[in-house]
Amino acid sequence: MKNVSYDIAALILLIVLLHSCYIRKMTRGISNRLFMILTLDTIASTIFDIAAVFLDNAQSNNTIALYTMHFGYLLTHFLSAPMYLLFLISLIDTWHKLRKNIILQAILFVPFVMTVSVLAANAGNHLVFSVEGGYKRGPLFPLLYICTIVYVIVAIIYIIRYRSLLGRTKIITTSTFVPVELAAMIVQMVHPASRLEMFGGAIGLLIVSVGIQRPEDYIDSFTQLTKYSAYVYDRKRDSYNDKHVKIIMLNIGNFPSVQAMVGFDSAMQVLKEVANKIREINRKMRGHADLYYLDNGRFRIVFWGRYYDRAEGMAEALNQELKKGINIMGLDINLMPYMVLAGYPEEFKDFRTLMSFGADFHQRDPYTGRIMRASEMYDQKQLDIQNNIDAIIERALEDERFEVYYQPIYSIPQGKFVSAEALIRLFDPEHGFISPELLITAAEQNGTIHRIGEFVFEKVCQFIASEEYKKLDLEYIEVNLSVAQVMNGDLPETYLSIMEKYNVSPAKINLEITETAAAYEQEVMIDNLKQLTRAGISFSLDDYGTGYSNIQRVIQLPLKIIKLDKSFANENNNQKVWIFLKNTVKMLKDMNMEIVIEGVETQEMLDKFTDLQCDFVQGYFFSKPIPQNDFVEFISNAKKI
Ligand code: C2E
Ligand code: MG
Ligand code: MG
Repeated sequence: MKNVSYDIAALILLIVLLHSCYIRKMTRGISNRLFMILTLDTIASTIFDIAAVFLDNAQSNNTIALYTMHFGYLLTHFLSAPMYLLFLISLIDTWHKLRKNIILQAILFVPFVMTVSVLAANAGNHLVFSVEGGYKRGPLFPLLYICTIVYVIVAIIYIIRYRSLLGRTKIITTSTFVPVELAAMIVQMVHPASRLEMFGGAIGLLIVSVGIQRPEDYIDSFTQLTKYSAYVYDRKRDSYNDKHVKIIMLNIGNFPSVQAMVGFDSAMQVLKEVANKIREINRKMRGHADLYYLDNGRFRIVFWGRYYDRAEGMAEALNQELKKGINIMGLDINLMPYMVLAGYPEEFKDFRTLMSFGADFHQRDPYTGRIMRASEMYDQKQLDIQNNIDAIIERALEDERFEVYYQPIYSIPQGKFVSAEALIRLFDPEHGFISPELLITAAEQNGTIHRIGEFVFEKVCQFIASEEYKKLDLEYIEVNLSVAQVMNGDLPETYLSIMEKYNVSPAKINLEITETAAAYEQEVMIDNLKQLTRAGISFSLDDYGTGYSNIQRVIQLPLKIIKLDKSFANENNNQKVWIFLKNTVKMLKDMNMEIVIEGVETQEMLDKFTDLQCDFVQGYFFSKPIPQNDFVEFISNAKKI
């Protein structure tokens, strides 16, 4: 007697599973659909099996019914293996590769044809099974298992080949399906009465559903669009599989201010409304695009295959629609939809570049309302540097590749060069010149600024201690301190000990600090400045007049020099700027401070600032920052004139 309890349990499980696919809205997309077909197929074979067992146990003589049930069972059951493989292929999204690979096509197709044809031929030859005088397996029956084993082997190879793409959870879930199914199959092969196979299949599908088909992992609950994590996974998969897609990147540039203005709930309503419009246009234009909502008002619409070329039209339509704004509860909200069209992977060298470009393109350029092309908007070289800056800095520290350049500073009253500013330079063997601004910002973020700062300071002290420096007859060298350094309590001790090591007098050092709005740890900063001033070091305030300019600070801090930002040198023709400069210089001089004007590039500028009675001038007019040797030569030559 065969036992159907496991079959019934399997049936219940499968129906619940199917139901949950609907509830969780897991019905769209190829892999979801294949998963549902697989579940339906397993349900069908379970029903056939129950019916067949029922007839077998009743020793029915109705051969047509018996034959139909066994045939139905075997057909649906043995087709689940190729279906599972198709599901796996869709999960990894290698359809386009399958189309080109004839061998793989044969491996997929031949066992399938074999299974179907031996089952079809069975009606005449009874080589697989017969039902006359009870159900019996025929000599060709093992062929069905052999075909299944082929699929299992291909599935395992697939999982191994694409393991890096699948990630741990997916590897575990996709591969546990195989042993669970296999174990049940072996038990049933040995004990045909146990009817465990369907139950094994149901458990396998359940594992896959829990491990892979998790909507909360990739459906955003507000917009009902696919989430950031899925976007990341899908794009990684595209570049891995060399699948070409066209992406509309839509960043609502003013989303933060919309949120601040209307509050969280209404802002979410805005997002929902935008998502609806995207969905609607996608449907109307038959774009068949994948739709994503990432975060902070950023949407992505991805076109591929036959629909690749529809991206442009959809971008236009969507742009027109969104520019009209959105009405939420009677309130008209204007949107700033920044839209960029990008071909991937051709326009982005790698996945990281795509992601970092997409994060903030709307913050870099002013809003024009036009649809932009990714390739026109960014400099691949700059983006490469930005993406790799941490590694670049680490490598430069290891290989001691940082250099210190010097830019001469001219004293107007004395009519000669009296000092210089030390500026860091880095030439990376792979990326070339790295801009100091980018370098310093990254170093502040990753904490390497302290090592870099010490390196620069040590180089400067070494230079000051050298014989050639002494001949130059300079008063001091200015060295930049970044905010993170000024806030660091160890700064005075470290810097003083470096000076001691090279026997450098504090009078020969001037440290440049920048203004910062940071209210935190003001005491540490003031304390550091006081300690170093007491030791005899003087300070400059760099880039005065930009960013956070606070006269309070100028009064409070022990400053010797104020460096007017180079933007003033550029804008000296502007009447208002000139009035500001005139009065600022007068005020600072009355406070007994010395003034450097930075960024002087022409004789005309020099004359103007001489009239203004600035003390020092720094700029390309005299020299760009140059390497130490060139600097020595420059000053030596200047002295001779
Ligand atoms: P900064 O301290 O204000 O340095 C002056 C910047 O103006 C330098 O840019 C210099 O090359 C540039 N400059 C000088 N004269 C002219 C001119 O006539 N025209 C124009 N257009 N530019 C001129 P650089 O070297 O690119 O440095 C940029 C910033 O990076 C510096 O601004 C400073 O804030 C930071 N920095 C550079 N070296 C160091 C360092 O060793 N430590 C720290 N903490 N920051 C540094
Ligand atoms: Mg400076
Ligand atoms: Mg400056």
